Amino acid sequence: MLILISDAFDASLPERLKDFGEVTDDKSRVAEAEVVLIRSKTKCTREYIDAAPKLKYIIRGGVGLDNVDQVYAKEKGIRVENTADASSVAVAELAMALMLAPINHVVAGHNGMAGGKWLKKELKRTELYKKTLGLIGIGRIGTEVAKRCQAFGMKVIAFDAYVDKHEIAELKSLDEVLAQSDFISLHTPLTDETRSMINADRLALTKEGVIFVNTARGLVVDEAAMTKALESGHVACYATDVWSSDPPPADCPLTSAPRMLMTPHIGASSKENLGRIGDIVVDKLQGYQK
Ligand code: NAD
Repeated sequence: MLILISDAFDASLPERLKDFGEVTDDKSRVAEAEVVLIRSKTKCTREYIDAAPKLKYIIRGGVGLDNVDQVYAKEKGIRVENTADASSVAVAELAMALMLAPINHVVAGHNGMAGGKWLKKELKRTELYKKTLGLIGIGRIGTEVAKRCQAFGMKVIAFDAYVDKHEIAELKSLDEVLAQSDFISLHTPLTDETRSMINADRLALTKEGVIFVNTARGLVVDEAAMTKALESGHVACYATDVWSSDPPPADCPLTSAPRMLMTPHIGASSKENLGRIGDIVVDKLQGYQK
């Protein structure tokens, strides 16, 4: 069997998979592949699946399966699985970094000093302590963020369309979360329901000076509406790891908007997480071969 490693995985993985069959990262061999390992870059669309007649198993190292046409894969009898539990801590830690960096002026302080400026008087910090965090989506990653924010002394509230009790967060309606939060962190999958969920009407419900953190998916946020809210200063920061595409297109209004804090979709890319994902892939292939 040919195993195609189509995206970035732990460097040790090709060696670890050799016992299961031939391993390649040559994407032009997709037509021969029985197993394809992807992260978020490879898009397993209908066309991709049609170009891979031997394909039986897609393993997505990570969580979101919005880059796989799951309906068509099922129709073709292709098994599709993710490594859902591996990434929660890695993504939650990035969400904390994106929350802490703007209120501590980490980037401005660094850039100031690199440019020979001592901005001690200009850079007034604020704290997470006693602020309200609103989580939208409180599954695996949302829960890890809730735990960390609770430890920072924050009040944690959440809206989740499919969860009605939670051990840490006080559950509220979406409008209440939007209206009451100082920080809003997004943790839903990208679905038809969540696409552009954060739009102009919903942004209008938020507090002046709210900080948004997005480690979920770029398209959960309406980019044009967010750009306007950043330009007016209503949103004090949009700290995002995720984009409408990877990388965002040249005309993405957010990359040149004020009050942005940007990372290039690295939420799951910790060394430790890539190791955990590799372990799960090996376990899955062991199960597949039995
Ligand atoms: P999860 O399934 O454990 O949690 C998602 C939560 O969102 C669930 O509780 C679900 O009920 C809720 N939800 C679904 N639809 C909703 C809606 N319409 N309104 C409100 N809540 C809704 O998933 P997770 O492991 O916490 O991951 C969440 C998302 O994070 C993934 O789907 C993925 O898109 C994203 N992610 C990003 C990175 C990154 O690198 N930045 C890495 C991993 C995951």
